[in-house]
Amino acid sequence: MAYSGGAGMFMFLAIAIVVFTSSVSADPDMLQDICVADLTSAVKVNGYPCKSNVTAEDFFFAGLAKPEATNNSAGSLVTLANVQKIPGLNTLGVSLARIDYAPEGLNPPHTHPRATEVVFVLEGELDVGFITTANVLISKSIKKGEIFVFPRGLVHFQKNNGKTAASVIAAFNSQLPGTQSIAATLFAATPPVPDNVLTKAFQVGTKEIDKIKSRFAPKK
Ligand code: MN
Repeated sequence: MAYSGGAGMFMFLAIAIVVFTSSVSADPDMLQDICVADLTSAVKVNGYPCKSNVTAEDFFFAGLAKPEATNNSAGSLVTLANVQKIPGLNTLGVSLARIDYAPEGLNPPHTHPRATEVVFVLEGELDVGFITTANVLISKSIKKGEIFVFPRGLVHFQKNNGKTAASVIAAFNSQLPGTQSIAATLFAATPPVPDNVLTKAFQVGTKEIDKIKSRFAPKK
């Protein structure tokens, strides 16, 4: 079959789109060896401006070493190890977190607008899942030593249905992945999302909406 110029152009465009989109699929690439974040600077840039006096402490964090208390309403606690905790991560496009789960604990449905997440189970067992934009739930039970991936931007969760505590290390391809927890985003925003938006969205009455809002209200 003769080679068609049109098909060639199509292939070129397809490849160009793949290359271009892959080059912007995580944090932007760095332009120097290091750019340790000056977290106190008033200068606003994409990321943080670089500070001049750098030490090993800027690249160090001991905050994921031990389990954190999980005696809250969800029964889970996320400890972040992002650029705001490790200034040396600025411009490097990666970060970690540790998540601890009490028995029955839940890391409630949430998304990370700027990162794909990979979790590695340190202890225990978890039922994990994410939902695609076609509304398909992809879920699995994972245990100590196993890994699961949550693609960037998709709603996901982890639930400890075991009888013992569980914990994971989570890795992100962003220095600051950002988290939007679905329930808190909709029911605890400041100022509040209007009741008439939520009643219509969830097809329930104001009473039900206000009940949920009260559960997420800051403790006085
Ligand atoms: Mn997550």
